[in-house]
Amino acid sequence: MEYLTDAVSSVRIGSDGPYTQKCAQLLQERLGIQRILMTPSCTAALEMAVMLCDLGPGDEVIVPSYTFVSTALAVARSGARPIFADIDPQTLNMDPTDVASLIGPSTRAILPVHYAGVGCDMTTINELAQQHGLKVIEDAAQAVNSTYQEQALGGIGHLGTFSFHESKNLGCGEGGALAINDAEWIDRAEIIRDKGTNRRQFFDGKIDKYTWVDWGSSFLPSELTCAFLYAQLQQMDEITRRRKSICEYYQQRLAPLEQSGHLRLPEIPADCQSNYHLFHVITRDAATRAALMKHLNDQEIHAVFHYVPLHTSPMGQQLSPQTRSLPVTESLSAQLLRLPLFYEITDAQQDRVVGEIEKFFSASTA
Ligand SMILES: *Cc1c(COP(=O)(O)O)cnc(C)c1O
Repeated sequence: MEYLTDAVSSVRIGSDGPYTQKCAQLLQERLGIQRILMTPSCTAALEMAVMLCDLGPGDEVIVPSYTFVSTALAVARSGARPIFADIDPQTLNMDPTDVASLIGPSTRAILPVHYAGVGCDMTTINELAQQHGLKVIEDAAQAVNSTYQEQALGGIGHLGTFSFHESKNLGCGEGGALAINDAEWIDRAEIIRDKGTNRRQFFDGKIDKYTWVDWGSSFLPSELTCAFLYAQLQQMDEITRRRKSICEYYQQRLAPLEQSGHLRLPEIPADCQSNYHLFHVITRDAATRAALMKHLNDQEIHAVFHYVPLHTSPMGQQLSPQTRSLPVTESLSAQLLRLPLFYEITDAQQDRVVGEIEKFFSASTA
């Protein structure tokens, strides 16, 4: 409230005032990222990334099918074609072996998504990109404050995108950011973000009037959004710590059900540090997931499934018709169930969730 009041009383609440700058600086410093530009959403940051890579008709971009719509939508809006890859059964992240098999003469970029805040195999993805001269855009929407081999996610590919949607760990209603990891792109990114004008250079005193010089759109968040977000960003480590302890408690309490073969629990690779964006369990089959979800929902526990695979969606099929099936994506998307995870959840609430899951499995095996 203090920051919001301050922003309002400063009168100028458009973008790139003190709070927009504070957010960008905090993210740059804390994540060790060269340049952050705040945006109105992660979707907007993805669109900017696609524009910066000059993607368009005739180009192909490899994306996972198991992701939020925006990953593929930002590509498709440019006229480029999203090509859907399967996922790794352990992390539910893009499977690099499948990615390698999809690279062809029209491939221009790879767009990994760090599901649940856990990093993709960026070593292999970057190697593939280098071999074939491809760009790497990380959709790190869920991965603010996560690392892969001690490097911040979003800061590893050529470009990275973050979300501050209310459903994410750090939120301001609607918000996002673009991470630029190659200094050569900074000036053009500022132009694209500001309606294709070189207004930034004008404000910086580098030119004496500004004009229309490139493609772009309005990819600027307001100061009000950033004032709200700044307070969240300042609590970044505290929020990650709390989410970690919630996930570890689920993990510990649900371990016996994993040992008895009822569930599979998330496993974080040794070279990844998660921000604990999601906690999910994987059931033996789709019917068990459906029955467990119904049982929990009947007890007023908000356990939910996640993505409908994009390659099976109406738009996915229209834009990228394929006969190829993605077996891991298709089976796991029907077996995955997310458990309640939010900063304020209490141990007693978690105990109730676990208790109901135990009840479900003891009844179903009785
Ligand atoms: C949330 C999310 C987005 C979209 O973020 P917005 O800020 O709502 O545009 C994109 N990709 C992934 C993987 C997400 O989880």
